[in-house]
Amino acid sequence: MTYQALARKYRPQNFQEIVGQEHVVQALVNGLENNRLHHAFLFTGTRGVGKTTLARVLAKSLNCIDGITGTPCGVCAHCEEIKSGEFIDLIEVDAASRTGVDDTRALLENVHYAPSKGRYKIYLIDEVHMFSKSSFNALLKTLEEPPEHVKFLLATTEPDKLPITVLSRCLQFNLKRLTQKQIADHLVSLLEKEQVSFDEKAVSLIARVADGSMRDSLSLLDQSLAFGAGNVTYDEIRNMLGTVEHSHVTELMKMVAAGDHDGVVEKLEWLHEMSIDHVQVLEELCLLLHEVALIQQFNRVTGSAAFDSADLKYFAQQISAEQVQMYYQLVMLSLDQMRMAPNKKISFEMAIIRMLAFEIGPAGQPGSKKKPELSATETSTQTATVSVQAESSTQSVATNESVHSVSSTNSSKPESNAKPVIQAEQARPVLDFDGLTHDVWTAAFPKLPLKGMTREMARHFELLKNEAKTLTFAVDSQAQMYLSDKSKQVFEQILQAETQGYKVVYQLTDEVNSVAKAQALAAQAQQKQLAPHKDPVVSELQQQFGATVIENKFGTQ
Ligand SMILES: [Zn+2]
Repeated sequence: MTYQALARKYRPQNFQEIVGQEHVVQALVNGLENNRLHHAFLFTGTRGVGKTTLARVLAKSLNCIDGITGTPCGVCAHCEEIKSGEFIDLIEVDAASRTGVDDTRALLENVHYAPSKGRYKIYLIDEVHMFSKSSFNALLKTLEEPPEHVKFLLATTEPDKLPITVLSRCLQFNLKRLTQKQIADHLVSLLEKEQVSFDEKAVSLIARVADGSMRDSLSLLDQSLAFGAGNVTYDEIRNMLGTVEHSHVTELMKMVAAGDHDGVVEKLEWLHEMSIDHVQVLEELCLLLHEVALIQQFNRVTGSAAFDSADLKYFAQQISAEQVQMYYQLVMLSLDQMRMAPNKKISFEMAIIRMLAFEIGPAGQPGSKKKPELSATETSTQTATVSVQAESSTQSVATNESVHSVSSTNSSKPESNAKPVIQAEQARPVLDFDGLTHDVWTAAFPKLPLKGMTREMARHFELLKNEAKTLTFAVDSQAQMYLSDKSKQVFEQILQAETQGYKVVYQLTDEVNSVAKAQALAAQAQQKQLAPHKDPVVSELQQQFGATVIENKFGTQ
């Protein structure tokens, strides 16, 4: 049996099956039951919310052999033919493909003839806003003096493009965008009918991405069934859509909130290695902050299940409501700039640096006119703090993009006598092990294909000796806990692939000039360089809001 697209297979066949448009359905059913029906209907609303589906059900209701009804039988010849698109008195037109006046005339010239077999001759014109001016005029003439046996069902996503003369002759129904929950519930019911296994997070993600459109959600579900060979799992849908795993977004947020600079640097490197979509991560951060703000202000979650509710509650407790607003503002500002920025990575990193650099104090300073001035906190000696006039905080701040990179180790240069390490920025890094020194090793480290615990272990190494095809690594005895057999094995396998035949020897030592130490020093130097007052956004905040930067606490203590 051939596969039938879900949107087609489960297209609502009666008013009861239509999701989320109860206000329209009720009005139509009342009109049908009392036989008080207008001759022209206009269904408006965003794509995929059921405009033409509703119109087809209405066509059935008007032409069902059982009589005009709010509950067409669905099995009589007329209902069946309307369902299969073969009913001779339902004339469906896609205005997007018939915009000439001649076409419209041809369409309407038979309007005065009685229907062939049905009660009404029905013209269903989709995307009617695409008609040309002369086509509208031809339509208008018929709408002004409609024959008794004709009904016009018009559908459009852009009613504001219709002439007022046409609008005023139609009974307009505005279809709502569907909520995430309505879409998710519907998808779950279909998946249960189809007896397909699925996880709720996956369904929730599809419902969110569909952005109010049931049709989009169903085609995404179709795609994901094909992609996941009949299963619907979160990871597969995430891969299919190219969305970022939410746990990375929450981890990044935790590090930012905790002021964990080293963690942030590593996370940014990792996200970059994974070739993440920078815009998407910022958008996800916005979603996360929105959820946190909802908990803080209304003690409610959207139920989207996009993020772990324990994480959301943690943020709601750990980050002040003002700070959440500040983060949101900074991320939105950065998103705005990022769309124009030539280098998305730099722009993304600047966004995260801004989040690290700003801290907002408790509200309630006396003397401000409308809203309290937010001032420096007691702990201002630990982190950068900016005093901001909250009154103006919703103004947009136009800035030029800065060209700093947060990636501290990338910028540290190898010794002069060192050989070039990275062959190409984009290509897989290749180390020249012949004569490799610790400095070159340190500089190349971020590009090495090391992950997780193995990476963390190797960060605590110093390349002590490189002789006779043997690499001797000094291991910080403080970091012995990382030195597991498994991590060593993975490390050596990766090095074998890179080095083609070098041996690896470990030496536990107390004094180790490890990569981790070099990275920490470089990060400190970088932070000094990126002091908040050099940031264009800070300058702008200073000018516009009278913000003050409290010096001497950005990586200098
Ligand atoms: Zn019927």
